[in-house]
Amino acid sequence: MPVQPNFSFASDNTSGACPDVMDAFIRVNNGRLPSYGDDVVTAQAADAFRELFGTDCDVYFVFNGTAANSLALASICQSYHSVIAHEMAHVETDECGAPEFFSNGTKILLSPGECGKLNPGAVELLVTKRRDVHFPKPKALSLSCPTELGTVYTAAEVSALGAVASRHGLRVHMDGARFANAVASLEVSPSEITWKAGVDVLSFGGTKLGAPVGEAVVFFNRALGEEFAYRCKQAGQLASKMRFLAAPWPVLLKNNRWLEIAAHANACARRLAEGLAKMPGLRILYPVEANAVFVEMPERAHAALRSGGWRYYVFIGGGARFMCSWSTTDADVESLLGAVREGIGL
Ligand SMILES: *Cc1c(COP(=O)(O)O)cnc(C)c1O
Repeated sequence: MPVQPNFSFASDNTSGACPDVMDAFIRVNNGRLPSYGDDVVTAQAADAFRELFGTDCDVYFVFNGTAANSLALASICQSYHSVIAHEMAHVETDECGAPEFFSNGTKILLSPGECGKLNPGAVELLVTKRRDVHFPKPKALSLSCPTELGTVYTAAEVSALGAVASRHGLRVHMDGARFANAVASLEVSPSEITWKAGVDVLSFGGTKLGAPVGEAVVFFNRALGEEFAYRCKQAGQLASKMRFLAAPWPVLLKNNRWLEIAAHANACARRLAEGLAKMPGLRILYPVEANAVFVEMPERAHAALRSGGWRYYVFIGGGARFMCSWSTTDADVESLLGAVREGIGL
């Protein structure tokens, strides 16, 4: 019998949708409603974001995170501009050039930084290095929160980056594919790490959180989003049955359900990391501040996991990456820990 592949920790998007969120998806299936976002479900979802952030933001719903990021950045940049991002940023490494494509050639400039985080000094250096017409003019700062390495910027860290951006006329984009995990981890109000810290536009992830599909693009700087609907349409991201992209959000944002789900995933990751850290020869690579665990393991542990059918990425961050989600259980965590323990002969 071939071993069944096991995707429990491969990514937070190997899970299905959270049942209560899926119920909402099914509920909006009834009746005829206006199309292309002129419906009451979409209006309710946008209002839920305005209430959550305590500000009059503009909200759009797109199919995936690559579109959310690249269209948000395109709304900031002309073709001769540049976006400053961390060298491991998803917009650089995992979007197939979509941010450059949708902005007609805006260049991404990479900045280093510990644990996946940009640091204000390095960003400032990059922004001020050249001011001449031969260099693509820095116009946007894009930061991922949580980062691609599962770390989380504090509100003070986002504010410090926001201050650099503001000093040099840059707009700030936050890639929040896992925004809920960051807010749950920091236990701050979502406004503290976004518009109050200088973020102009946020990609707010729904899919990895537990929606069947869809991300929200939240413009705190409403002028930037003025023609966003046209961009979405041109990019093939304007859903005609928009109610389905909107449906998950009123449920997710009600009674802090989004934070409850994210806190669960974060707690699973912490438990997994604690278990792995106790094993000889294993090393947790980055602080576990959200729902990701990166670990360096001996080859025999990898071999055992591979032969047991466990699937996980090893091309990000230099170790094995294990992701937790709403659907991760204590039994899943124990099962993975058991497999690793067995692999190293404990
Ligand atoms: C998953 C992810 C995205 C979105 O990816 P899609 O596959 O396009 O939905 C964006 N940024 C980060 C950091 C991600 O992890």
